[in-house]
Amino acid sequence: MIPYGKQQITEQDIDAVVNVLKSDFLTQGPIVNRFEQAVAGKCQAKFALATNSATSALHIACLALDIGQGDIVWTSPISFVASANCALYCGADIDFVDIERNTANMSTSALAEKLALAKIQGKLPKAIIVVHMAGLSCDMAKIGALARQYQVKIIEDASHAIGGAYQYTPVGNCQFSDICVFSFHPVKVITSAEGGMALTNCETLAHKMEMYRSHGITKDTTQFQQFSPNEPWRYEQQLLGFNYRMSDLHAALGLSQLNKLDDFVAQRNALAQNYRNAFAGLPIKCQQQNDLTLSAYHLMLCQVESKSKLDRDALFNTLRAQDIGCQIHYIPIHLQPYFQQLGYRQGDFPVAEQYYQTCISLPLFPGLDKVSQTQIIETVKKLLS
Ligand SMILES: *Cc1c(COP(=O)(O)O)cnc(C)c1O
Repeated sequence: MIPYGKQQITEQDIDAVVNVLKSDFLTQGPIVNRFEQAVAGKCQAKFALATNSATSALHIACLALDIGQGDIVWTSPISFVASANCALYCGADIDFVDIERNTANMSTSALAEKLALAKIQGKLPKAIIVVHMAGLSCDMAKIGALARQYQVKIIEDASHAIGGAYQYTPVGNCQFSDICVFSFHPVKVITSAEGGMALTNCETLAHKMEMYRSHGITKDTTQFQQFSPNEPWRYEQQLLGFNYRMSDLHAALGLSQLNKLDDFVAQRNALAQNYRNAFAGLPIKCQQQNDLTLSAYHLMLCQVESKSKLDRDALFNTLRAQDIGCQIHYIPIHLQPYFQQLGYRQGDFPVAEQYYQTCISLPLFPGLDKVSQTQIIETVKKLLS
């Protein structure tokens, strides 16, 4: 089976991990900090906090923004469930904003309408979690302007988007957001096996996230509430936090992979362009791009058009039967049983639901060889033309 996504690990990556294994620190050593500095530098953000997953980074991002019971958080229904769950962990209510069909990103017009209505109803969200689907940045300038107008916080779930750019600046610079989160799961653009990172330009948010990441503890004596010069061993728990730390082993892999980020993104873009060229004229449409955005191309998102002789389900099953590991991104979150229990229903976010009926992700990863990609393309062509 050709998978839809896959990590690329070199001897260099392996050596980097082995070096940590032979060193004094397997965790809480110097490498996590180096990985954070490197990502912050690459993405032009002031602060970066490494975590053991993007899910935990999203959780501490919500906590740092003081999201809790009585608050409302909005996200996109077309995402991985983690984008919504992080708000629920904090006791907040979750709601969704429908997507734009051609990009699968949150629709800025639907967002503007929903914000205007929520303001009248006195039900404005505290934060909005936008998702850069498949690595394509949302329209952050517009979203940032709406956030200022309505005094709403913005978290970017950029789990798909490290290495991408928006208006010629790196995703992760937090120009239009409070916090931006990356994932380093093996199917994502670069990997640390498991891992995530939260970036921000705000020192207060960075400090809070750092505490929430490690039990709510600070070792910074200037922050102590009960400072005592006779207790040099002192640390203080001031909040209820978690153990969401990344280990140095994971950070070493992540740091080594970061060196290849630009190459990975270039390869992903080249492979995507092959699909786009090959599918011109076929009843299958690739995710719409725009000139101001460089997608990190975590996924090759396509939609099967209604005029196609095979519908999406038939195409999916036929490709799988031929060992082409296509995938669906995503089942709308509000249609999951857990969210149905919260009161969401079929029909609540119609564009997302229509999109779900027609979407399919084709294999895309650095190292996908020419022969395999040609085989995928020819198979799709034969089935659809
Ligand atoms: C993968 C993913 C996550 C979760 O990432 P983990 O590192 O596995 O916790 C969150 N949001 C989106 C959009 C994702 O694709």
